[in-house]
Amino acid sequence: MSTVPHVTLNNGVTMPQLGFGVFQVPDEETTAAVTHALESGYRSIDTAAIYGNESGVGRALAASGLPRQDLFVTTKLWNEDQGYDTTLSAFDTSLARLGLEYVDLYLIHWPTPARDRYLETWRALERILADGRARAIGVSNFQPHHLQRLLDHSGVVPAVNQVEAHPGLQQRELREFHTRHGVVTEAWSPLAQGAVLSYEAVTDIAARHGQTPAQVVLRWHLQLGNVVIPKSVTPARIRENLDVFGFTLDESEMAALAALDRGLRTGPDPDTLN
Ligand code: NDP
Repeated sequence: MSTVPHVTLNNGVTMPQLGFGVFQVPDEETTAAVTHALESGYRSIDTAAIYGNESGVGRALAASGLPRQDLFVTTKLWNEDQGYDTTLSAFDTSLARLGLEYVDLYLIHWPTPARDRYLETWRALERILADGRARAIGVSNFQPHHLQRLLDHSGVVPAVNQVEAHPGLQQRELREFHTRHGVVTEAWSPLAQGAVLSYEAVTDIAARHGQTPAQVVLRWHLQLGNVVIPKSVTPARIRENLDVFGFTLDESEMAALAALDRGLRTGPDPDTLN
């Protein structure tokens, strides 16, 4: 069974360092994918209201028979629902779809700066946290200046910032900011949706270790301290992505991967997505 290490968030809650993402998985396929992930040993599942598959996740969680305290469930507030009352109501809807009484982590999905509502949205997340309906709260796609503004105007430091990160977009400045403020970096698209798997440095290291390129990239994230949530609907890949704890990248291999940073954003720019 799974030997996934846990990271400790800034409020003492622990979170598996490797979880399972379900972006772009249709609701009706999500139950099978999450079921396979849980059977393989994943215990952390990352969904979002906008993915339209919280119900599919919830069905898999219920059918698994796993004790609730062994699971770590993350969902996210969609942009249109930002605002104090709208957040509280969107959160109720997410919980109902998941069939849960609480989530482990609730995130603001994007800062959407032109909307300028993330401060009042954060107050709603603080209330959800205080009510025990989320064990931890955090943000996603926040740049350092969005985070700084949040820190200047609130009492609770986000436990996590979930951002695009992979060898092509290493987010050094943001990760340093997180370290200074006790925020865990969680990498979305940790494989850049496959775009970094053919890089020569990656395939060379994979061949040397007898691992796949995806395993090398995930291992790199883990050694940096990132939380990762690779997505796959392919059973063999779901298992492969979890099997990354039996080898270690040495300093020269970490350096070779560090050199692949090229500002490769595969998703939207957080400063302009509104
Ligand atoms: P990933 O980087 O996890 O890549 C997923 C893609 O890579 C799929 O096409 C999958 O194919 C393929 N793949 C997975 N494993 C392997 C493997 N071992 N070898 C080769 N190919 C592989 O991309 P995502 O964008 O899905 O990101 C992961 C998760 O991050 C999401 O599911 C979501 O939970 C979260 N996310 C959050 C965002 C945010 O704004 N907060 C934005 C985007 C994602 P297949 O499924 O066909 O096997």
